[in-house]
Amino acid sequence: MEDSVIVVGAGTMGAGIAFVAARGGFPVEVVEPDASARERGRARIEADALRAGDASAVSRIRWIEQIPERSAATIAIEAVPEDPSLKIRILTELERALASDALLATNTSSLSITELFSGLDRPERAIGLHFFNPPAAMKLVEIVRTASTDDRAIERARAFVERSRKSAVLAADTPGFIVNRVARPFYLQALRALDRGAAPIETIDALARAAGFRMGPFELIDLIGMDVNLAVSESIYERTDQARLIPLELQRAMVAQGRLGRKSGLGFYDYRNGVPERLDLRVDPPGGEPIEDEVVAIIGFGGIADELAELLEQRYVHVQRIENDDLIDELRLDTTMVIDTGDGTSDRGELVASMDSFLGPETVVFVDAYATDTQAAAKRMRHPERLIGYGVLGSFESQRAVEIADSPGASDDALALAQELFEQLGKGVALVADEPGLVLGRIVGSIVNEAVIGVHEDVATADDIDLAMRLGTNYPIGPIAWGREIGGARVARILNRLAQAEGDAFAPHRSLWVLDALDEPEEGLEPPEPQGIGGGIF
Ligand code: NAD
Repeated sequence: MEDSVIVVGAGTMGAGIAFVAARGGFPVEVVEPDASARERGRARIEADALRAGDASAVSRIRWIEQIPERSAATIAIEAVPEDPSLKIRILTELERALASDALLATNTSSLSITELFSGLDRPERAIGLHFFNPPAAMKLVEIVRTASTDDRAIERARAFVERSRKSAVLAADTPGFIVNRVARPFYLQALRALDRGAAPIETIDALARAAGFRMGPFELIDLIGMDVNLAVSESIYERTDQARLIPLELQRAMVAQGRLGRKSGLGFYDYRNGVPERLDLRVDPPGGEPIEDEVVAIIGFGGIADELAELLEQRYVHVQRIENDDLIDELRLDTTMVIDTGDGTSDRGELVASMDSFLGPETVVFVDAYATDTQAAAKRMRHPERLIGYGVLGSFESQRAVEIADSPGASDDALALAQELFEQLGKGVALVADEPGLVLGRIVGSIVNEAVIGVHEDVATADDIDLAMRLGTNYPIGPIAWGREIGGARVARILNRLAQAEGDAFAPHRSLWVLDALDEPEEGLEPPEPQGIGGGIF
């Protein structure tokens, strides 16, 4: 039998879903009791059809005012407002109207699908079909299964989504499903960074964009609306009861003040005279005369050190490479800058202290601030003013942004030199407070961690989480793949330091250490036991 669809509620989502289904070739009935909503829905669908160049979709849609007593539709999707008792009433009416083998779906974002369907006769054919706004443009649909959903329902949902030209991922019925859950740290950790004075709003947004996000967290909250963003955060926090996902006072304060973002004219930015221009990190392609008056040394081994050496050699005439910590006494005495890359996971305070004992006081020393506690390292030095913490997430090659820790002890000259060095290498540079994980390490590390927890808790597979985040939120790369690129142990190191400063809730999940084998438990790779905060295995 040919499938046909009934959509209930023709608001923002319902009208879009009806269009998407009609475009996929399904005959669609749309139930909308409110006359003006019907008119708006019709107009939206016509606009969608025009944009898609597919006028025939409109002709497959029939409008009705209420759910009929009997419906021949084989797929029903409710998209009425997010009110549990209304939704339960609609689902019960739909169950009564539909044949017993019809698929019954809800588009809820924040309610427990299991609870919505708990009073129904046939929960095995009940499912979540979570479309994203606007449905016509967004490629992703989260198919949400409950413990009762049977495989046949999942397969039918998948076939429907694919025929509607969308990409499906399968998620368990957990708070926020995949996208809204894994995206939480993007907002919450940016807000925490702001709260702790890690960097100004514009800098955090610019860093996020330089790291590959389409928008910075604050401009995105302004677009979404702080009230909506807070409501999603609160709902997920209340349902998961996980302290790492706790909303911030700042969010509540902004909502109380009516600073909701674009729609109220004021949020993190001021929109009263239009959308303000974004501040981007300055990135100039490397070029110009080779630099002769610096003598640069790189300490470290492996890919990152190789990459950095190559970049440096393109700009600086005097570059020395030291691939073994035991050989640091071979450093040229006229070295002006020493850049230590370490292994990305170990604290290099000891090495820094030993170099400090014999290098001339003018030499500036760079350490990876994600792995090394630069403030503790500075305390062990005679010349702490020469120590600069820098942060590059992932590889030098792929990253446009470098964060420099604006440590209280660092001299202005050393900071200026650091800025110049990374700009010479064609990177955008931002000065941020010397907090664990700086800004990007904190935000991206926490997203990776949330994704790993999602896999561990069977919310979805690693592949589906990656696909969902790329399509649902435009992340430049899926968080699991990103974690693998950065290195699970490195992400874990960042989060261990974050946890030490801000509480156990932010500690890395133990599966981070086995990111490469995340989807292959049969490999028999046992993750290490959870470590005490700060101690870690490093
Ligand atoms: P909306 O308020 O824009 O639309 C709801 C529509 O349902 C309205 O047109 C309303 O008239 C209609 N309605 C109310 N009672 C009805 C009834 N008894 N029978 C039929 N129609 C009825 O809401 P929305 O933003 O489209 O959200 C709908 C659902 O989609 C919610 O569950 C929401 O959580 C979910 N969702 C929303 C978004 C989003 O960004 N807006 C994204 C994903 C999912």
